[in-house]
Amino acid sequence: MNSLDGRNFDNTYSRLPEHFYTRLDPTPLEKPRLVTYSASAGQLLNLEDAHETREKLTRICSGNSAWPGSEPLAMVYSGHQFGSYNPQLGDGRGLLLGELVNIQGEKWDLHLKGAGQTPYSRFGDGRAVLRSCIREYLASEALHHLGIPTTRALCVVTSDTPVYRETTEAGSTLLRLARSHIRFGHFEYYFYNKRYEALKELADYTIEQHFQDLEGMEAMAGSDAGYQLFYSEVVRRTATLIARWQAAGFAHGVMNTDNMSIIGDTFDYGPYGFMDDFNWHYICNHSDHSGRYAFSQQPEIGYWNCGRLGQALIPLFENSELIQNALDQYPQIYTQTYTRLMLDKLGLVEEEEEDAELVRDLLQLLHDSHCDYTLFFRTLSSFPLDQTNEQLEQLANHPSLAPWLDTYKERLKRNPLDDQARQKRMKLVNPKYILRNYLAQQAIEKAEKGDYQEIENLMKVLMSPYDEHPDFEHYAEQPPEWGKKLEVSCSS
Ligand code: AMP
Ligand code: MG
Repeated sequence: MNSLDGRNFDNTYSRLPEHFYTRLDPTPLEKPRLVTYSASAGQLLNLEDAHETREKLTRICSGNSAWPGSEPLAMVYSGHQFGSYNPQLGDGRGLLLGELVNIQGEKWDLHLKGAGQTPYSRFGDGRAVLRSCIREYLASEALHHLGIPTTRALCVVTSDTPVYRETTEAGSTLLRLARSHIRFGHFEYYFYNKRYEALKELADYTIEQHFQDLEGMEAMAGSDAGYQLFYSEVVRRTATLIARWQAAGFAHGVMNTDNMSIIGDTFDYGPYGFMDDFNWHYICNHSDHSGRYAFSQQPEIGYWNCGRLGQALIPLFENSELIQNALDQYPQIYTQTYTRLMLDKLGLVEEEEEDAELVRDLLQLLHDSHCDYTLFFRTLSSFPLDQTNEQLEQLANHPSLAPWLDTYKERLKRNPLDDQARQKRMKLVNPKYILRNYLAQQAIEKAEKGDYQEIENLMKVLMSPYDEHPDFEHYAEQPPEWGKKLEVSCSS
């Protein structure tokens, strides 16, 4: 069965009271064209990878026909942007089309980004441009295939409808898939408006939809213990997610609380960046002048954001100390997860006390030598350690490399793997291919001229980033100088 026939929707959000959203249809785009479609994401919806599917999606994603069974609506939420509370944020340009249930019984939100103005658009035009849709499409599929929790992307459609940014661009849409589109900012909206009944309704709905399987939840639902269990799980997932970003060298760029998913997905891709050269102070968002969302700040900001969510949940609790107790777990969960991931990257099976120092010293070396983060780990995974490796020496050209390698080799003597097994294991967690900024930029520039092939080529490596792709070796190389200096801002 093809889900596009629309028999299998369960639109639970649209059954909530009307103060949670406004119902409205997408505003049509003119002369729509499909830019790209992810058959891998399409499988989640049991879509056939067929010409007819693509035709139908093009009409649906341009607002020119409805997905049968959908009930489009703009969700209401607010949030903290760059540390300040903004009482009204969205949905300004996206619509939740509905919740599709696939053959496996999984429910997937369909969210159309760039669907036109809503009552919450403020001064915005409700649109998205082609470059930002391609960036979200590539990144969400890239993170997913790296094993990092994320929303997915089904397709991108562009059109002849003009959209005015610094220049005139093509109005485009992205169809996003996620198990939930509820953000921290949804809870903040009802808290700051002192609508505590609605806040409770939202929390109970969220728990019922997404946290019911937590051990003990059924018996505790609606009590302090139940809300604490829910909040603890959000804290745990957030800390874990950010540890994964740090290990992958990924910076989100706009960690406002409206861009934080309640189920712990990487959410709302804007001026994100994968690091090329390792740099603690990497700032991927050109508009982030203070460096609030710099790479090194992400774990701390994740904690702060969880704190804002905790604050918004206070009215649910009789004993609000339970919130702080749950939040206090964040640093430990983060550190444990991050350390484990980094030891995996180094091929170390068991953890020893000095390992954290080994990791810290390595990162300092990578920082000081402006070394390519991804290439370093992949190279370290690719040669026997009893040989000297010129490639490694070129990558991390620094006096600290030799002493660090000596310490690492000593440490490996206590590792229960022979060198081949170490390499094999490391290659499973150290990607050869990441979505480098300049690669995304090249694909965008071609797509803006109507050539979409580069997106497809790039997707081939991003969908199996740990494998070798002899035809696409060039995607694994260090960026050219111009590619390191690209600037990406919030304008999208
Ligand atoms: P972002 O920084 O992209 O997460 O956007 C923050 C909020 O502004 C979101 O809730 C969007 O819905 C809204 N927004 C962003 N761009 C536009 C736009 N062009 N028109 C209307 N609303 C927008
Ligand atoms: Mg957002």
